[in-house]
Amino acid sequence: MAALLCSLVALSEKAANLARIIRSEKALFDLLVEEKKGEQKNKRFLQDFKTLGDVLIQEMIRHDIAQKFPSLEDNVFGEESNTFTNTLGESITVAVQPTEAQTCTLLTKVLDGNACAASLLAKAVHQEIHMPPDSRLDNLSVEVDFDSLGIWIDPIDGTAQYIKGRSEDTPADGIHEEGLKCAIILIGVFNRNNGDSLMGVVNQPFDIIDQGDRWRGRHVWGVSCGDTQVNSLPSMPANNDPSTPGISVILSRSEEEDIKTALRPITDGKVKYAGGAGYKMLCTIDYLVDAYILSKGSTFKWDTCAPHAILKSMNGGMANLAKALEIYREFVKKGSGDGSDSAGLDLREAELRYEEPDANGSKEAGQKWANAGGIVAYRSKDVLLQVLETLSNYSNL
Ligand SMILES: [Mg+2]
Repeated sequence: MAALLCSLVALSEKAANLARIIRSEKALFDLLVEEKKGEQKNKRFLQDFKTLGDVLIQEMIRHDIAQKFPSLEDNVFGEESNTFTNTLGESITVAVQPTEAQTCTLLTKVLDGNACAASLLAKAVHQEIHMPPDSRLDNLSVEVDFDSLGIWIDPIDGTAQYIKGRSEDTPADGIHEEGLKCAIILIGVFNRNNGDSLMGVVNQPFDIIDQGDRWRGRHVWGVSCGDTQVNSLPSMPANNDPSTPGISVILSRSEEEDIKTALRPITDGKVKYAGGAGYKMLCTIDYLVDAYILSKGSTFKWDTCAPHAILKSMNGGMANLAKALEIYREFVKKGSGDGSDSAGLDLREAELRYEEPDANGSKEAGQKWANAGGIVAYRSKDVLLQVLETLSNYSNL
């Protein structure tokens, strides 16, 4: 497992590097922000250069994992299909080729002859990334059956922030409401037999700007497998300072007013907002907030698998909000009081799972792998209980 984790960390860095190159090389950046209209759009394979960036990162991760761990090749999943079709019905499959030159030739076709952009991308895809050794991995000796593993990838979460790219906003309490810092790469490993999230790498490609005016990224990882709970986070004091009452939560600006109202009694005004689901989960992992709550089914398995494993390794987790509320209400109804004595309340059934679509999920196209019922990402069981108690007072949730 340590070898797989090392590889995924290095791959997340390689993906972050590609994400930074697309923004820093003019030939690529112009394509990213270009709006194609009318005929120009129709003759191309590509409706959207951003989609190519996503597909390329996803295929690069799949390719590199398969090289090192052949048994995982068929179990790497993501949002994007790697086949592009133009209006003439011609299809082309984007996959990393044996050599840089071959990848470049293939990308030139997809990019309608733009050899300059293709060669920049091909070079980044075939680059070797060497990571400094991580001593925290030395003691990690979890043996897992590789045949039972699956991997969910989100190549770039927070696309709108990635393309808009504003980064000059002033953070409130360390949280950036928008901009490049909200763009996140997510690689999560799960058990295909029982759906548990096991291991995750969350990479923030745009963390700080160095003295050479270049973006530098960062990553965090975590493993939650049986008795093994390890992560790369610095040990920080829990931010439950008794002098500041209430828990802090992060939401999407577009969250339901009912949720915002319901959270008032437990947050004492500590409600934050930011773009990007991956980024909001990272804020929870980074101790900037206690929980991330989303009432809509607008996240997907590829968004949550990696941060879920990291939160589990910190003694937290990620629950299906609707399911957790159902279990909580049932528990209270059975005469177990108001839920404040939570002994006997078992919320494990509500934890998100990754091996199959949610049973109550939408049948709409593109929604198959949505986390139906919304989510609560939390760093401690106590926080989850407080959230459920207050939200359970609202019958429409
Ligand atoms: Mg996403």
